[in-house]
Amino acid sequence: MNRSEMLSQIEDSTEEWDIAIIGGGATGLGCAVDAAARGYRTLLLEQGDFSQGTSSRSTKLIHGGVRYLQQGDIPMVRDSLRERGHLLKNASHLVHPLPFVIPGYRWYEPYYYTFGMKMYDMLSGKLGIDPSLLLSKESVIEKFPNLKSDGLSGGTLYWDAQFDDARMVVAMARTAAEQKACVLNYLKVDCLSKKNGRIDGVVASDQLSGKEYSIKAKVVINATGVFADSIRQLDVENAPEIIEPSQGIHIVLDASFLSTDHAIMIPKTDDGRVLFAIPWHGHLMFGTTDTPGVPIELEPRPLEEEIDYLIEHAARYMQKAPNRSDVKSVFAGLRPLVRPTHAKGGSTSKISRDHHIDVSDSGMVTIVGGKWTTYRHMAEDTIDQAITTASLSPSPCTTLDLEIHRSDEGDHVAKEQPEYNQVLHKGFKYRKSDIVAAARHEMAQTLSDALSRRTRCLLLNQKATLEVAPEAARLMAVELGKDESWIKEQVTLLSNENIL
Ligand SMILES: Cc1cc2nc3c(=O)[nH]c(=O)nc-3n(C[C@H](O)[C@H](O)[C@H](O)COP(=O)(O)OP(=O)(O)OC[C@H]3O[C@@H](n4cnc5c(N)ncnc54)[C@H](O)[C@@H]3O)c2cc1C
Repeated sequence: MNRSEMLSQIEDSTEEWDIAIIGGGATGLGCAVDAAARGYRTLLLEQGDFSQGTSSRSTKLIHGGVRYLQQGDIPMVRDSLRERGHLLKNASHLVHPLPFVIPGYRWYEPYYYTFGMKMYDMLSGKLGIDPSLLLSKESVIEKFPNLKSDGLSGGTLYWDAQFDDARMVVAMARTAAEQKACVLNYLKVDCLSKKNGRIDGVVASDQLSGKEYSIKAKVVINATGVFADSIRQLDVENAPEIIEPSQGIHIVLDASFLSTDHAIMIPKTDDGRVLFAIPWHGHLMFGTTDTPGVPIELEPRPLEEEIDYLIEHAARYMQKAPNRSDVKSVFAGLRPLVRPTHAKGGSTSKISRDHHIDVSDSGMVTIVGGKWTTYRHMAEDTIDQAITTASLSPSPCTTLDLEIHRSDEGDHVAKEQPEYNQVLHKGFKYRKSDIVAAARHEMAQTLSDALSRRTRCLLLNQKATLEVAPEAARLMAVELGKDESWIKEQVTLLSNENIL
């Protein structure tokens, strides 16, 4: 994947695109893969980096959602479990099974949750992983030596799946490109063009060069997550808002706080939230919060009270409790929840995670809501709708069996150029070759792209990331033909992203 080559596709061609997609997160790239695999001439435009919005900031679970089971949303759970099964098959290099334990602190909880998780197993049908089990108190303690054992009555073991969200998005972009889609990061849609009241394209600007492009398409899809209303308002000035964002943050701790390859799921805190403690890339992720009423931004900031909330709750479950100085990183994301027409404000944890497709009078297809887990199904529904809206010649969806791009470019670079086959920092498994590959093959344009989303250094350990930043910037500068002032600027910009 090469950005200049992608740009030349919109520079050199005046031919109309069949489908233009705004937004390069899970939803937009899911749509790009689906549309291109059906044979449509497909263009995707992302204002920042691929997955820079919510899609790189999730809990990294491909799951049915125990919370939705508790809420009785059986169709949502069944659909998600089916998608989990397909992803474990089509992206087995990126999505893997993960065992979870629900600790019980009341005598009946292990029985209650084991019963519930048996239903979860049943709902996953043939695509299930392994059966759920009732665990004794001793067995829970054996798995989690640092878990508080006072009042522990036992637990429930169940299976779900884990992935690396931003790596998945890059692999989806490459899959779309293999299917001949043109996918571009740092291309912001500034306005929509219309002919006879119908949208016939977009005007977009290159955020790196400032150049403007007028692009024609038979149908435009708005897949911009929490930004969906801003695009809808480019279409209809006073379009009512349909998104109710909710912020969720995670803190990242040393793996020793749980010392296990199992994850913990706390199904209900006193204020009704679900919490996860999850091993990820040799660290421990703990989250998440559910905070309504936050501003819609590409780089949302965690609130101090959210960090305090997680530290305080971690202390309730861990014998060796973390404090503020143990937090290696923290990241925030915004859930693109669809506003229920009957309620405004209040708790967002009960708003449905189901997806909604809306077609405006001028023919723009907006897809909102949903979950990472269900991106493929959301894309199938959206492209089916786009075909109808634009009267494209019908072509069936093929993504149920489509493999997501599989290759380790960092490995290839390390083999070709052994001088890059060294770890960036002793705290990370990433090598210099991963940074080189990010710039050479994965369209990373900034230091943050390489250290936040092609590798996940910034999400894992912010201090160590700042230590390696100058060297990583130098490696990128060689690939991208940049000078010393670019290196300095990139390091400064990255330092500003340091939230601790
Ligand atoms: C804390 C948290 C944890 C979560 N955990 C999970 C989980 O474990 N499992 C799960 O299944 N789901 C999870 N989710 C939900 C999941 O992450 C989201 O549903 C999903 O990532 C949304 O993807 P999206 O593509 O719709 O939005 P985004 O990823 O936000 O993508 C929208 C993109 O549109 C771009 N854009 C906006 N305006 C323009 C413009 N004018 N021009 C061009 N581009 C534009 C943005 O830059 C952005 O990149 C979680 C969500 C949060 C917040």
